[in-house]
Amino acid sequence: MSYDYDLFTIGAGSGGVRASRLASQYGAKVGIAEESRVGGTCVIRGCVPKKFFVYASEFSHAFEDSGPYGWSVGDVSFDWKTLVENKDKNIDRLNGIYITNLEKAGVELFHSRAILKDQHTVHLVGEGRDVTAEKILISAGGTPWTDESIEGHELGITSNEAFHLEELPGSIVVAGGGYIAVEFACIFAGLGVDTTLVYRGPTLLKNFDHDISEQLHKELEHKGIKLELSTIFTKIEKVDGKKHVSLTNGNKLVADQVMWAVGRRPKTVGLGLEKAGVATGHNGAIITDDHHKTSVENIYAIGDVTDRVNLTPVAIREGIAFAESHFNAKPTVMDYDFIPKAVFSQPPIGTVGMTEREARDAGHNVHIYRSDFMPMKNSLSGNPERMLMKLVVDKATDTVLGCHIIGFESPEMIQCLAIAIKHGVKKAEFDATCALHPSAAEEIVTLKVPSNESMVGKKHD
Ligand code: NDP
Repeated sequence: MSYDYDLFTIGAGSGGVRASRLASQYGAKVGIAEESRVGGTCVIRGCVPKKFFVYASEFSHAFEDSGPYGWSVGDVSFDWKTLVENKDKNIDRLNGIYITNLEKAGVELFHSRAILKDQHTVHLVGEGRDVTAEKILISAGGTPWTDESIEGHELGITSNEAFHLEELPGSIVVAGGGYIAVEFACIFAGLGVDTTLVYRGPTLLKNFDHDISEQLHKELEHKGIKLELSTIFTKIEKVDGKKHVSLTNGNKLVADQVMWAVGRRPKTVGLGLEKAGVATGHNGAIITDDHHKTSVENIYAIGDVTDRVNLTPVAIREGIAFAESHFNAKPTVMDYDFIPKAVFSQPPIGTVGMTEREARDAGHNVHIYRSDFMPMKNSLSGNPERMLMKLVVDKATDTVLGCHIIGFESPEMIQCLAIAIKHGVKKAEFDATCALHPSAAEEIVTLKVPSNESMVGKKHD
């Protein structure tokens, strides 16, 4: 049986593009379809534009801090349209690079929605025709979810629309307590928007180390972000151009804009998965084995569409593992251990390895090393923002199980620390490393005394 392609990829985001380019470079005939813009969530409506917005909003804090350093910045003003235009120009540039890289690698790109017709056939909606492939890779990504059971839910935007608002709202209510909710609340607050965060639980970022989450609460409040915790929306209404949000705790909020950030779902609806026999699970995620194979022998899936670890570098590595295994005769299994993570809140969070709770639940007897301090830069500026660093160390082996930092440049620190922690670094090796002075990062090698464990245990057990 001969097919049009050795590999056909559905979805040209970070994972799909990397897998397709590599497979093509290894000699496969590869086609890829993208219904939106090449680059996917990360480049077009996720990590990259979000980081530009984070940078933009951080300037306001820098202006505030500059006085004691001798600066008079006078009246400052911010122009939302300038930011959006320049962000879009940069996204266009990256989108172009992605397309060029696909072309250079010899991958045939279709700007079309693609739907599975059967195990080897993909229908290209935009072209009105079918193509066949020996192997099919689904990397269709995810999409923001909104709670449609809430009356007026359609009055709220998602992160997709937040990147293209005509105007910066004067006030906003953000729903959610995860990555996107926290990051966007900080972005809007930094840009001067009166911001309220509504979260259904008592603690934001509930899967992060509890000390980090607690510190985040304090820092958000310092930044003037209002928190409505342990409550959810019951209704959104539009009254005289404003959005009125009713909450289960009885409070009513009035704002110019409402944003849903209550999770993302795999983008599998209407993909023809049932026609090809591809099984899905929770939230419509495609079920795969450790080799990214779906329930169908020749169909594979990587990235957010599998709802495994929804991070760009993970999708890229899954794409590499897939291409190496199938087109370079180098069986490669994705390693999900010690994936460093960051939340670009203000201050940001960087984390790798086990939280204190995870370590204790896994049966580790742990030493906790913690430092909560005022970074040097803030001691002059008067900014009350503090920094917290925490090491979770296995008592028996001295192995560092996890590292959690909230504060200035913590994602940059964690990326480097992750190398050592992934490879089993001991606490004694931290101690044996000379500090770099003056820096905030030096604290991590000067943590000498474990904090009062019984207190930590009592507090969180
Ligand atoms: P998250 O899973 O991080 O957070 C979703 C939030 O919505 C949680 O706080 C959740 O509550 C809450 N929620 C879920 N359902 C409801 C509901 N019915 N009513 C009210 N609240 C609800 O999802 P995000 O959308 O923020 O981000 C999606 C994924 O994208 C992340 O998990 C991450 O993998 C990735 N991402 C990574 C970033 C980064 O690396 N910096 C940035 C942005 C996204 P609860 O906590 O109680 O479950």
